[in-house]
Amino acid sequence: MIQQEIAREVDRLLRVVFQGRRQTGCLDLEAIEMAVRSAMHQAGAIALSQLLQFPAPAAERRNIPCSCGHQAGFRELRSKPVLTAVGEVTVSRPYYLCPRCHHGQFPADVELDIENTEFSPGVRRMEAVVGQEAPFDHGRQQMKLLAGLDLTTKAVERTAEAIGEDVAAREREEMHRAMQLDLPMVVGNPIPILYVEVDGTGVPVVKKETVGRQGKTEGQPSHTREAKLGCVFTQTAWDREGYAIRDLDSTTYVGAIETAEEFGKRIYLEAWKRGWSRAEKKVVIGDGAEWIWNIAAQHFPGAIQIVDLFHARQHLWDLARKLYPNQEAEQRRWMMIHQNLLDQGKMEDLTAALRSTDSSSPELAEKIRIEIGYFANNAERMRYPKFRGQHLFVGSGVIEAGCKTIIGSRCKQSGMFWTVRGANAILALRCCHFNDRFETYWEARRA
Ligand SMILES: [Zn+2]
Repeated sequence: MIQQEIAREVDRLLRVVFQGRRQTGCLDLEAIEMAVRSAMHQAGAIALSQLLQFPAPAAERRNIPCSCGHQAGFRELRSKPVLTAVGEVTVSRPYYLCPRCHHGQFPADVELDIENTEFSPGVRRMEAVVGQEAPFDHGRQQMKLLAGLDLTTKAVERTAEAIGEDVAAREREEMHRAMQLDLPMVVGNPIPILYVEVDGTGVPVVKKETVGRQGKTEGQPSHTREAKLGCVFTQTAWDREGYAIRDLDSTTYVGAIETAEEFGKRIYLEAWKRGWSRAEKKVVIGDGAEWIWNIAAQHFPGAIQIVDLFHARQHLWDLARKLYPNQEAEQRRWMMIHQNLLDQGKMEDLTAALRSTDSSSPELAEKIRIEIGYFANNAERMRYPKFRGQHLFVGSGVIEAGCKTIIGSRCKQSGMFWTVRGANAILALRCCHFNDRFETYWEARRA
């Protein structure tokens, strides 16, 4: 029966191919290969549909447990269309209804992983992969070209977000266990140097996500929410000049729009998975943002803390421009002296120099006072010669590049406005993909 239908499909296809050749005298390979794929899909869909016709249960199996504690009874066979990797098929399966709580269920849907969805697991997996990679409409086009499947842009979006949310939910579960000190020990060789780098970057969001939130400019509403991104990587070597070399492919990422407290647990779990407990040297690098050092103190006590050198220099540049507006030569002369102190890690000399800086206006005096505070508070995190002597990184270039590749290129394209829920789902999916863990996630999901 199935064989007959498939044979009919192939037959029909061959007729089309030969007819085309007779008419034009030549072979249009692309047209043919696409037609063959389409016919194979149709034949496959016929076969698959046959496989997905579940019989009515035998008389003694017509009652199954309901979550309310009573028994749900078999009512009828119900069918629904499902889009699979070979096109649309029809699934027909038993429907059970609980007379007590009126909850209906399809046990076959659970078994097939098609509960409350019109897409098969194979198609959903493809939608997740294209959805994390590029704008959803681009994903729709890829599905059409690469898989021969017609989907709406909204369907790609919904599925990618649903899977991203599932990834995020499993991570939350793991974070909870990490906080209960309930994770299995990660065994392995000692790691010479393990880094944690953390940064934040704005993601454009829809209006309702910024209601009541202060923007960067006084009185202006914000149009973005800060996504926090963290990465973990290892280092075993340095180059001839003594500069640190990051281990190839050793970087993993975590990110979300969330509070520093929530993010702290996230980055702690990631560091833990990567072997924080067996790292011989532990380093946390960030810019001067206070929340980063709070996380470092809470979750990574004992780690070497380093403020990104380039952020620190930027603070001096900002001051130089305020001290000598429009006087570039003066700015540079001032920078030579002060940047040298910074690069040498002579923080006491630097803050002393800043204290003795003449300030003509109260506004400028205030700015200098703030910067003195910044350099004094972070002094131990700015002993750059000491860090360089240990061949450590002193810049947060890895996480800044991560902000661009993980978040910027996917979430900050023009015309994009996210909900926090949607952005977090896609970020979870994207980090999972970049960390090379999507396969593992999918297997765990099947189990
Ligand atoms: Zn019930």
